[in-house]
Amino acid sequence: MGSENELFSGREFAPSLWLALFSFHHRARKVRGRDTYEYHEPATALFILSTMNCSWQQGLADSRLCLAHHEVRSTLLLQPLWDLVRGKEGWLKSPFFPVLFSFMVYMLFCIPFLALDLLSSKVPSLRRYKIQPQRSPTAGVLLGCVLHTVYNHVVFIFPVTVAHWYWRPVSLPSVAPGLLGVLLDTTACLLLFDFQYFLWHVLHHRVPWLYKTFHKLHHKHTATFALSTHYSSAWETLSLGLFAGACPMLLKCHPLTEMAFFVVNIWLSVEDHSGYDLPWSTHRLVPFGLCGGPPHHDLHHLRFKSNYAPYFTHWDKLLGTFVDLDPKE
Ligand SMILES: [Zn+2]
Ligand SMILES: [Zn+2]
Repeated sequence: MGSENELFSGREFAPSLWLALFSFHHRARKVRGRDTYEYHEPATALFILSTMNCSWQQGLADSRLCLAHHEVRSTLLLQPLWDLVRGKEGWLKSPFFPVLFSFMVYMLFCIPFLALDLLSSKVPSLRRYKIQPQRSPTAGVLLGCVLHTVYNHVVFIFPVTVAHWYWRPVSLPSVAPGLLGVLLDTTACLLLFDFQYFLWHVLHHRVPWLYKTFHKLHHKHTATFALSTHYSSAWETLSLGLFAGACPMLLKCHPLTEMAFFVVNIWLSVEDHSGYDLPWSTHRLVPFGLCGGPPHHDLHHLRFKSNYAPYFTHWDKLLGTFVDLDPKE
């Protein structure tokens, strides 16, 4: 275990390395604001040592070297991208940025599904991917959804983001986050968002007044299509925006991770409402049925009283509200 190459290629080292990196990442993140890094805690080194056939001193030295190298390499990987993003500091610190970023990313993700809607009406082989092939939105419905989204962004989301910009000015550290850190934090944010929205969603279905006043609008369309994603009341739009904003803040994520989470979050919500079960849909890529994907949420729009979690399936499975599409249907 003496040389760096041996460290990175040691088969027996791999499982403990993942756990150790997780711990190290969180330790390092605490000091990232000061552009410095710390090694993992001694407890982590002890854990690594217990899984390796080497002396305490050797294990500690090797694991520290390995973890430090990993974090440095990982940071170096994203540093050019982060430098590029920081180059647009003026934009990033503008009160207009969050609302424009969210709207543009949303529309960008909707466009391929809109094109698919247009194509599938002419190419029958594409319609087999549509979850409810007999239902398609009209041009008028699509336009109504776009106008509604613009209205909600201008009238409700923009004032809230300006208030946030005023009270919590954006700070951009000079050091990029590690790649592993970005992946772990983005997943943690998605899990937290999924839980927050699950609670909100169940509450707004179980309390009739809340459903009628705030959530019914989103259920106007019983067959989903990409632009129906943001067809919701101001309260629902603001709640989801608040949850999305709170997750990276609560988990103290790097701004680059925050952006990655926003992009993935918008993609997953659009995909959920796309109305298409494509071969590369999230629930087909993620194993063990952990993600519901578009069929899961389309079924919620169709039947109302099941599948409340937006992305993952564990909460619905645990609380008995999970329903799968009957293959005979
Ligand atoms: Zn609902
Ligand atoms: Zn929905």
